[in-house]
Amino acid sequence: MKIKTIGITGGKGGTGKSTIAVLMAAQLSKEGKKVILCDCDVECPNDYLLIGEKLEKLVDRVYAEFPKLIKKKCTKCGLCTRTCRSNAIFQAPGKYPIFIKDLCSACGACWIVCPFGAIQPNKEELGKIYLNKIQNLYLLTGLAKTGLEETGPVVGQVKEFALKLAKRIKADVVLFDTAAGTHCPVITALLDVNSALAVTEPTPMGAYDLNLILDLCKKLKVPAKIVLNQADLGKKKEVEKIAKRYKLKIEKEIPYSKKILEGYSKGNLLKTKIEL
Ligand code: SF4
Ligand code: SF4
Repeated sequence: MKIKTIGITGGKGGTGKSTIAVLMAAQLSKEGKKVILCDCDVECPNDYLLIGEKLEKLVDRVYAEFPKLIKKKCTKCGLCTRTCRSNAIFQAPGKYPIFIKDLCSACGACWIVCPFGAIQPNKEELGKIYLNKIQNLYLLTGLAKTGLEETGPVVGQVKEFALKLAKRIKADVVLFDTAAGTHCPVITALLDVNSALAVTEPTPMGAYDLNLILDLCKKLKVPAKIVLNQADLGKKKEVEKIAKRYKLKIEKEIPYSKKILEGYSKGNLLKTKIEL
């Protein structure tokens, strides 16, 4: 049986993307489907808060290896600096290389090329993965270490964990709730999913960011559908224009709902009786 994978995204923050991800997971689960909701907004995951859960069951840790220089072995030859494609090594003439961690993708090229074994890989924890199980709904949460500059690897690993879990438990659907924006962690979350829901709102900013996320989906060859949240609270003309540009229509309009808002603020969205 093929597992369906859906990215729930939206260029803009605050459009209700996580709310819709949780409501959708709840609905599918009520229909008897085995669902994994994977929170890929690893800098500030909040799906667990929306359903009143705690992050208690740690199921995995995310690690990466970063370069560490062993000065006494280094001849200052500069090969590592010339090799690094992320420009993460600075080396002034005649000086030792300096590794700039914020730019480092932990690719390992520098310690592979160093002819003198002067770079040692140093394992560091980047984040954690938690699991909550609520009947036939599995919530996986990726949580990046505070202050981590590049969170893509944490997203990549929570996603990999979700796909392995999906195979093991024979899940029907995996929903990937992405961060806002179109940066690397969002790309990682959306790569290779079967389809994406672009959640937006009827405002000029919503339309602007919808354009960005639809463009990204197009580049990633991920078929996208548009969901207009709080559809009755603004003018949808701008959103319709963007939809037309991508030969799409607004697939779903969700009106403002006090019930959803209450469920959101009280952290009991799973119990909200809302049909999407
Ligand atoms: S390649 Fe090795 S020896 Fe050469 S500068 Fe880099 S760390 Fe030093
Ligand atoms: S691990 Fe890769 S990205 Fe990081 S400094 Fe080495 S070559 Fe550059």
